[in-house]
Amino acid sequence: MNGKSFFVDLTLCTACRGCQVACKQWKDLPAEQTRNVGSHQNPQDLSAHTLKLVRFKEVRDKKGELRWNFFPEQCRHCIEPPCKYMLNMYKSNAVTHDSKTGAVVYNESVTLSKSVDLAPDQLCPYNVPRKNEETGQWTKCDMCIDRVQQGLKPACVTACPTGTMNFGDRDAMLEMAGKRLEAVKKTHPNAFLADPEDVRVIYLCQSDADDYASHVVAQAAHKQAIWAQVRPAEQTRRQFLTGQFKFGNNRG
Ligand code: SF4
Ligand code: SF4
Repeated sequence: MNGKSFFVDLTLCTACRGCQVACKQWKDLPAEQTRNVGSHQNPQDLSAHTLKLVRFKEVRDKKGELRWNFFPEQCRHCIEPPCKYMLNMYKSNAVTHDSKTGAVVYNESVTLSKSVDLAPDQLCPYNVPRKNEETGQWTKCDMCIDRVQQGLKPACVTACPTGTMNFGDRDAMLEMAGKRLEAVKKTHPNAFLADPEDVRVIYLCQSDADDYASHVVAQAAHKQAIWAQVRPAEQTRRQFLTGQFKFGNNRG
């Protein structure tokens, strides 16, 4: 497996949005029209023009005190990406999986026929990809593959001033994540790493996943429902063996 990974230490994030802006700058993506909804959340959601979004959530801790949690959200670059299998059923080679880095990359051609009506959570257990409503093209973070292939880090990682965003060889990132988890658990016993075996963007959360956002970890039933739509020939041995396979509902 190896390749590259991110380690995102949420205990250090200050919600400065440097990563969000750096992503827009590198990808030359336009600003969004936003509005004040009584929160610092801006914009409200991922979109075809916002591939990286810092989510804000106000929660009450066990002592009853209010706390902001911040979640810089992006594509997780899954080890076995269901979106790749789903989209490639509609258009072959629409999505590629870079063998050297593990980056999941949507090619320019991921524009599906207008008759195909898909929602992001039908493709992705983390609800990440978004369709450009003007062009019909599906899009998401591509790990800044152009930068990484030149030996640079993704733009969001380069911009992060607090050490929240880290990027490097997967083994090194897993080691860093494991050490930080051990340290954080001393003061926050419920701390955990979000799906580290399944994804290349590994978040360290200091409290429950729901304290951050709605799709911090993938739900087994959701993953199973997505894989159930993938043709048997395109399912992997791994999904088969882990029971994320159903004969009943497959297309074609
Ligand atoms: S997080 Fe979602 S969009 Fe990203 S690779 Fe995994 S399934 Fe695809
Ligand atoms: S740049 Fe770093 S500290 Fe700032 S919002 Fe992004 S992850 Fe958090």
